[in-house]
Amino acid sequence: MSLRKSKHTFYGPVKDSENWFIINSLSGEADLIESDLARQFQEDTLQDPSPFIEKGYYMDEEKESSLFNSAYLDFVDQQDDGEIQIFYVPDYFCNFNCTYCYQEEYESSTAVKDQRQIIDAFFDYIDKTFAGRKYYLTLFGGEPLLDTEHHKKNIYHFLDRANERGLSLAVVTNGYSLESYLPRLKESSIREIQITIDGPRKVHDKRRPLRGGQGTFDRVSDAVNLTLQAGLRVNLRAVIDKQNIDSLPELAQHALDQGWVESELFMTQLGRNYELHSCQKDHEYLFTRIGMYEKIYEMLKEHPHILDFHKPAFSLSRFLAEEGELPKPLFDSCPGAKTEWAFDYTGHIYSCTATVGKTGEELGQFFPEIRLSEETVEEWQDRDVCSIEACRDCSVQLACGGGCGSVAKNKTGKILAPDCRPVSELMSLGLKTYFEE
Ligand code: SF4
Ligand code: SF4
Repeated sequence: MSLRKSKHTFYGPVKDSENWFIINSLSGEADLIESDLARQFQEDTLQDPSPFIEKGYYMDEEKESSLFNSAYLDFVDQQDDGEIQIFYVPDYFCNFNCTYCYQEEYESSTAVKDQRQIIDAFFDYIDKTFAGRKYYLTLFGGEPLLDTEHHKKNIYHFLDRANERGLSLAVVTNGYSLESYLPRLKESSIREIQITIDGPRKVHDKRRPLRGGQGTFDRVSDAVNLTLQAGLRVNLRAVIDKQNIDSLPELAQHALDQGWVESELFMTQLGRNYELHSCQKDHEYLFTRIGMYEKIYEMLKEHPHILDFHKPAFSLSRFLAEEGELPKPLFDSCPGAKTEWAFDYTGHIYSCTATVGKTGEELGQFFPEIRLSEETVEEWQDRDVCSIEACRDCSVQLACGGGCGSVAKNKTGKILAPDCRPVSELMSLGLKTYFEE
């Protein structure tokens, strides 16, 4: 038996602390240790390495590879049994003119006015393709809930088809016309309605105005109240960059004042505004992933109420704090063309929301004819930390999962390329926030 540091052990200093963290995402162990001990571990000069062996921070190669293989099989099994999220885009047009929107090239509605035939073909396709699997639907855009007669007809037709099949549904909306859809949405099995608010009124209205320039905050904020009152789950999302991050405490206060955070039906997410496709002419105001969380970490010191509104994941930290254990090894963080698929009104099929509607990213079509590019689908499906060469020897691979396939492809031209997550840096911030504060 030849013991050596496990390939999956990573460690580093906890932010603003004397302690270090040490984690092995294969053995599922995590500890805070004194910096002296960490240094000895780093230099392999521990007087008594037995606790480090017990926890799998040192592991012999054979044991490591057998643990790895069995965890990999479990992961693949779970992915195969996992629930699939299926998106449908009824229109790429949006009635908002957000300053950062990557779909800004869609000036007006290009959608087919009467989509009943396409929607029926969509349901026929998913009935057959995903038979025997668990799945749910998500309406996505552009803006899927536009307040015109023909949009409503299409959405109601979609809801009827979903209801007939007993399928549950999520909706991603800007919230502006949500109220007029609520009576019908209440009749469906709704998972959640995702609504975006980017800050308090002054900030939100500047970033997310109507096409005519008018503010939208009051109506969207009312829509959150009405949706919660209707008994539907709200996932409030704020898209964050350097232009609005300083208003996060005010947004959190608004959510507290409105009583949203007390509701069991209310949850939040912070979306980092990033260079998804061609847009964002001026990249200066975009955060790097770690940059955004460093800033939030600093803001929490002065505005701890942000945590009542949103608890950042800081990689594995929040999970560890809430569940008392590490999550299972993550061999693949990109669900595209595996447990996520996207379809649009043009009859095309895509891997996910990052590629949907993008010319050249089609994986096939479900209308008017069915065809699928098996080769490209396979490439998406093969993507994980074992197939991406750069990930194979990475110590944080089972916490990172290789990142986003679409971002990797935009950067390198290849799907099988890494999109690195600053796992150690995030753990450093998160362990301080959730364990030492
Ligand atoms: S490509 Fe990116 S956005 Fe699409 S499913 Fe993968 S991780 Fe998600
Ligand atoms: S994407 Fe980067 S950080 Fe993530 S597993 Fe691969 S090499 Fe490691």
